[in-house]
Amino acid sequence: MNYPATRDAALDQLEQFVGVSGRYSRDRNRVVPGHGSVSCLSAAIRHRLVTEWEVASAPLTRYAASTVEKFTQEVYWRCYWKGWLSQRPQVWKDYLRGIEEHPGAERIRRGEGPVGVMNGFTRELRETGYLHNHARMWFAAYWVHVARLPWQLGAKFFQDHLLDFDPAANTLSWRWVSGLQTPGKTYLPRRGNIEKYLHPDLLDPEGLEQLENPVAFLPEIIENPAVTRPGLPENSLPEGDFVLWVHEEDLHPEISPLAKLKPSRIVVAGDFSGRSKLQKAWLGKALDDAAVRAEKHFGVLAVRVGDLVAWARENGVSEVVALRPEVGPLDDFIPSIEAAGVKMNLIVRPEDRFLRAFAAAGFFGFWKKLQGRMEKGEFPLEGNGMLL
Ligand SMILES: Cc1cc2nc3c(=O)[nH]c(=O)nc-3n(C[C@H](O)[C@H](O)[C@H](O)COP(=O)(O)OP(=O)(O)OC[C@H]3O[C@@H](n4cnc5c(N)ncnc54)[C@H](O)[C@@H]3O)c2cc1C
Repeated sequence: MNYPATRDAALDQLEQFVGVSGRYSRDRNRVVPGHGSVSCLSAAIRHRLVTEWEVASAPLTRYAASTVEKFTQEVYWRCYWKGWLSQRPQVWKDYLRGIEEHPGAERIRRGEGPVGVMNGFTRELRETGYLHNHARMWFAAYWVHVARLPWQLGAKFFQDHLLDFDPAANTLSWRWVSGLQTPGKTYLPRRGNIEKYLHPDLLDPEGLEQLENPVAFLPEIIENPAVTRPGLPENSLPEGDFVLWVHEEDLHPEISPLAKLKPSRIVVAGDFSGRSKLQKAWLGKALDDAAVRAEKHFGVLAVRVGDLVAWARENGVSEVVALRPEVGPLDDFIPSIEAAGVKMNLIVRPEDRFLRAFAAAGFFGFWKKLQGRMEKGEFPLEGNGMLL
């Protein structure tokens, strides 16, 4: 498996994965060389080279819904996290404010800590931009409960290296491991669990004894974050000439409320500030791919630019239409674009609006409601669960 950065490559990998998806619930926790028991599609999904509902629907062409329920559920965990954070955006701001350097962190980030398997995960993260879910859980739990480092600094380490870095999935998973997301519930890195699920070739024994009886490092204060539920804009689709901005938060405008419109110009631009070399390379390729597809679909030249504001100024553009980014770095960047004189018309995907409404409380309630809608054929919304 690799981490596809084009839509075609992601669809090929999805097709390949569908073949093994019947074994996903049995094998998904096993961390094996090459990661053959999971899809490795997270970067493609996170940046919407493929949509969550396309990915979740694909195994249903071969298996009964009950056989692949675990996989479907995992894909929608991501939508749940996004919907949850979107109703409590202050949790993202608090995370950013809470990032503070700590003297014990660098050694572990360099892969020179006392526990060999954790050093292996650090190397993999830096070299590939990916870690298996179980490895992420072990590493985060080690960071917080054994190394006793601030969770925000660990989340930032992931933010700086994951190709699939996602403000909701990453921040909320780190909070969950730390006992903040589900108050009182922490996740601990246990030697026995690692020995059971990590392939022997990856099982460096150095320092494993430190994980024999880990003790939870409980947060002092657990605040239940307020549900502020900021409103989503009503979609106001342009009628005349308009400029379409395609960005890294959603690289698939061809299947979206914008698909049937006719932009007069397309600009493809991302915000790469603070990204690692690997992240920049992946995003650059994915944006190039989106530019080619958008040009073909809309029949208009798509220009790839480094700086949206500078391009808008040079071309006398004062308003752009784009798919709405979720809470996170690009969303944080939008006020400065508007302050520079480029007005935004942000369009919400109907699926995002639909799923967000279910994500006010816990995952179980979200999943029950969604599953009910799926069984009645009401989700994915018409036409959007199908692969082109
Ligand atoms: C501490 C920590 C940090 C994480 N940070 C991120 C992140 O920044 N970005 C990110 O996309 N995921 C994150 N995850 C969730 C999960 O680890 C990855 O989505 C998954 O490992 C990606 O690998 P895959 O594509 O092979 O997943 P598969 O097992 O093939 O799953 C298919 C898809 O379902 C979604 N998914 C699977 N597991 C989860 C999960 N636990 N939570 C949310 N969505 C899930 C992903 O979109 C994934 O691509 C994090 C988990 C932890 C414990």
